[in-house]
Amino acid sequence: MKRNPALQSSRERMAPGRLSRGGFLGDDERPLDEIVAADGAELAALGVTAAEIAELLESFHRAADEALETPRELCGGRIVVQETEVMGRIPCPFACGFRTHKANILVRSGDRTWVVTPMHAHLIGRHGFFQGRGSAFRVEPADLAALVRLCRGGVTPAAG
Ligand SMILES: [Zn+2]
Repeated sequence: MKRNPALQSSRERMAPGRLSRGGFLGDDERPLDEIVAADGAELAALGVTAAEIAELLESFHRAADEALETPRELCGGRIVVQETEVMGRIPCPFACGFRTHKANILVRSGDRTWVVTPMHAHLIGRHGFFQGRGSAFRVEPADLAALVRLCRGGVTPAAG
């Protein structure tokens, strides 16, 4: 079977210790295009687009940046974001030229908390990549779709 050499080198850049300590793939053995296709199919079934998720994550990132590592309530108080561990910069593992800063953004809704990074919006919006199964930074498409629905009324807290 013919392999896509660009995707193969992306996969190598996603290994633990290359661009990030834990890498992007967890214990997922599937080829990258298979991972992207499976998550894309799930997302389509959920009725939410990768662009909507990327836009939401971008707004979480902006709000968390502005709050300077203190918790910030969004979406009418239904979501709390907080940035921690801002440390240096990281290039996109698909080598598309995109770079962003390394940071963890805690996203809390009810009794659940996810950890996303500024890279997530780019990886999902541009590459349809939610990271491999078992990766510490993978966030399930279903969870992100639920957050998009939760925030459809607007990301910023209601005035007053
Ligand atoms: Zn990229």
